[in-house]
Amino acid sequence: MTKPVRRRGNWRQRGASTVNPCIGTKLALEIDGQCGYAQCQKDTYQVLKDTIAKPINDSLLDIRSKKVVTIYIDRLDNDAVKLCFGKTHTQNTVLAEAAVEIFMVGDLAFYSLALGKEAMAPHWCWRCPMSKAEWSTSADAGRILPPDWTLDGLESHYQRLQSGELDKGKAEQVRGIKEPVLWCIAPKNILVPSLHNNELFVNEPLTKFMRWINHRVEELPLELIDARLAKIDLFIEQEAAIDRLAESEEPLAALKDEVGSLRPTKVRNEDRYICRDAQHEADYADAVARYDEAKAAKAECQRNLTAINARIKSAKQEVKIIFRKKENGALSQPIRQSIDHHLQQAYNILRSAYHGGDFKGNHCRKLIRHASEVMDDIRDLLINIPPAERAADDDEIRKYCRAYKRLFQYFDALIHYCHQPFGTLSDADMLNVRKLVDLLDRLWRRLFETVPPKAHAWQHLVVDLERLRGLKHHSESKIEVSHQIGRKIDLLFRSVNDIEKKIECSLRHQHTQDNPVMTRTQQIVQDDRSRKRRADVLENDVNNDRNSYVLLLLNSAEIADEFPSLDALAVADRKREAALANVNHHVDNDNNNSAE
Ligand SMILES: [Zn+2]
Repeated sequence: MTKPVRRRGNWRQRGASTVNPCIGTKLALEIDGQCGYAQCQKDTYQVLKDTIAKPINDSLLDIRSKKVVTIYIDRLDNDAVKLCFGKTHTQNTVLAEAAVEIFMVGDLAFYSLALGKEAMAPHWCWRCPMSKAEWSTSADAGRILPPDWTLDGLESHYQRLQSGELDKGKAEQVRGIKEPVLWCIAPKNILVPSLHNNELFVNEPLTKFMRWINHRVEELPLELIDARLAKIDLFIEQEAAIDRLAESEEPLAALKDEVGSLRPTKVRNEDRYICRDAQHEADYADAVARYDEAKAAKAECQRNLTAINARIKSAKQEVKIIFRKKENGALSQPIRQSIDHHLQQAYNILRSAYHGGDFKGNHCRKLIRHASEVMDDIRDLLINIPPAERAADDDEIRKYCRAYKRLFQYFDALIHYCHQPFGTLSDADMLNVRKLVDLLDRLWRRLFETVPPKAHAWQHLVVDLERLRGLKHHSESKIEVSHQIGRKIDLLFRSVNDIEKKIECSLRHQHTQDNPVMTRTQQIVQDDRSRKRRADVLENDVNNDRNSYVLLLLNSAEIADEFPSLDALAVADRKREAALANVNHHVDNDNNNSAE
């Protein structure tokens, strides 16, 4: 809803007008309403389709058909201020009117499900037709987005699959689409969940960072190291096999040409060839034999490579099995433990025991806020390990810690932009956002081999930020809050077995929250809020500092180091060892010779 004066100042120019020329609207009124809490082990397309999906969609269609939302003074009800979808009666005074638009916020898995692409979130973007393979191949492919899916586009694609016009057996043609969409919310209005990124921003890189530590710094169980070494030796074999295959392919073209040039004349309409003379016949036979021999040699190289590839596959599997064994888990990793301990001591950052030992929301945020100090601490901790007890040298440790630190700093800056209120990011801010996402994307691709869907979602995030200029009011935080309320009420009446009674109790409980006692409680909360508002003012000053910090970050030289995969690092080490052993061997021989 628009109103000439907004309720709160811009985060940089406190008190100044916040009319954003790019959007032309200002948030004047924000109302949250809760319409349901579903208790369900796991939501599936089928469960939603059979229960609440259709009633919700009917209501959404109804709202959409009203086209506008109106705030008015009800002349027949003591001039009370009310809100309705559609126009109000002409006797009432309209205060404001705005076009209706329906948005959705949730996590990517839910988006996929809602759009009829259940369980496809890891492979297909919810919003555009791209696949993971497509956005992973090159940085450009990730940056240049195809047009978003539209509701009509999804529907007609589904129909073409149903009619057989598109092949259901080909993933390329299915593009993840398995069912019709559940709700009439356009994919472009299904916003990038800026908060769920928190965990992507921390846990995934940190898992990869820990893998690097496990592999390059930490002493792991011998069994695992052996299995890994076997795998690495296979990689070296694979490299050699690929070289041999290329060598074997090299003469093929020339040999084929030779056969072609010596080919005898074919007798018309007969399966018979005529040679010029005996010499020609012998030369031809010789060329054919050499060509066949070369082809056989190539096939042999090919078979060899295929066999090595199969062995690599099972070796990888074996490493995975050993790695998953309980005694090799997080608890037996002293370095990881000391890092966790340090994070908890110094920054009160806790790795949650459940959730597979990941960092959860608040702790993620804390970690990236302190990225600079945290990563420097970890670097020092690793460098303090005696060099003899680790594979990575000091330079490698510095290089990796620096890169991860930068990655976390980029995330921190991006979250900072996401958390700004609706309509507050200026054009200059948007230039920074674009630059930031570019830098982030490039560093991610430098560090990691794969680009997960959430990382592709940054490109859509730029679009959403461009459009809404701040996602604070369009983030998932409200869902989390509603979820907490739902859970609380659910817990309150957990002993009521009769489902009808349970619903009645829950509704009554929520209704009585309006009584005087409740109102008093709410007043206390209100006071607390106003204290928070003072904190907001403070935050503005902090934001000023943060803005210059972000500018500094955007202008610091990009990280240009190479980050080979862990296997490549180990292969290089192993080759170095082998070369060294070879030299020693020669030295021994020389010594023996001189002893004679
Ligand atoms: Zn996409």
